Amino acid sequence: MYAGFKPELRHFYNLPFLNSAVDYIKEHGIEIDRILSPDYEEARKRALERIKQALEGEIEKTNLGQSKKSKIENPEFESEIEVENKIKIKMENELFSYPIARAILSCIKDNYLIRRYAVMEAKASHNFIRNWLEEIKNNEGLERRNELTVWLCKELDIDVKEKEGIFVIHFSDYIRLSNTIGDPSWRLINRSLKRGMLKLTHPQLLRIIQEAIRQRVQHGLPLDVPANFCKSIELDEIIEELEKRKEMYGEIEYGPERFYPPCMRNAIRLIRESINISHTLRFALTSFLLSIGWDRGKILDLFRNLPDFDEKLASYQIEHIAGSTGTVYTPPSCKTMETYGNCVGRDKLCIKVKHPLSYYRVRLRKEKYEKRRQKSNRGD
Ligand code: SF4
Repeated sequence: MYAGFKPELRHFYNLPFLNSAVDYIKEHGIEIDRILSPDYEEARKRALERIKQALEGEIEKTNLGQSKKSKIENPEFESEIEVENKIKIKMENELFSYPIARAILSCIKDNYLIRRYAVMEAKASHNFIRNWLEEIKNNEGLERRNELTVWLCKELDIDVKEKEGIFVIHFSDYIRLSNTIGDPSWRLINRSLKRGMLKLTHPQLLRIIQEAIRQRVQHGLPLDVPANFCKSIELDEIIEELEKRKEMYGEIEYGPERFYPPCMRNAIRLIRESINISHTLRFALTSFLLSIGWDRGKILDLFRNLPDFDEKLASYQIEHIAGSTGTVYTPPSCKTMETYGNCVGRDKLCIKVKHPLSYYRVRLRKEKYEKRRQKSNRGD
């Protein structure tokens, strides 16, 4: 990092979980009892909006001038100082809305919402950082982009060094931050390790940063928040939206999904809670869902919940498993599922079957039999 670099508000207002952002918030004394004052009205509104956007699928992050060369709207009738002051207030509202959002999440105390918020905050930050660093590269050069990338890592307590455009990360940080990334290329055995350090490309490092953000945002939630704070915040809209989402997924308990084998129900639940699953489990689930008649679009929509969702790649993989190259793949047997650690939640029926598809068929047959039996008992 070049000598004398001192992060300013414009560097971290949109990345409120960075160490510098946390220090700024502490210095400006944002206390829980002050959050309810009129001074924080805009920040409170934005905090609620952050959570709603997370539920809807994307937290918006606006660039208010992260880079010195960003264009700042400057109507002719306002002096430069007035414009700068307005921007500072907007940046502070954006920054302060983050600890308020954490406090609100702590009032609702819903694990699904907390996980979803952390995933969406990390995703939006990843996109924001990528665009910002690209702008830096174009305006100030590659060296400056690399310096800022290493600074971001330091702010997130990731041990990374850069030399001549090559990034190396300490293996302990790599393991901590890559083990939830589904793609097999991230496995440690597929990487070369030298003196405890691993090489990463810039996009790979950005993906590691995304995971570090997700972990940091989720860490410590729910917090211990005073009841009077929770009572003063209008939570109905968020809770309603949350319930709607959960109802949509309630099908797993009450509809045909309850006949799916425990391993597949578990995989679906994890994805819906935006938790990454291994590559082998993705393959097993996709082939299982295709076999029982899910259409490709429905499977793609399910995978949209994943933190590392890539539409092009996911569509290609679904098409591939469905037989685009001439081979239609079938789901792995229970034995293979067990070998890869994907046999989760075995129940009584599991003991009698050797394949997840057999489990599903037996459950369907039992259901049909049960319905027929009830019908004849009623004398219909
Ligand atoms: S035994 Fe087979 S069907 Fe049951 S959970 Fe394991 S893999 Fe799935």
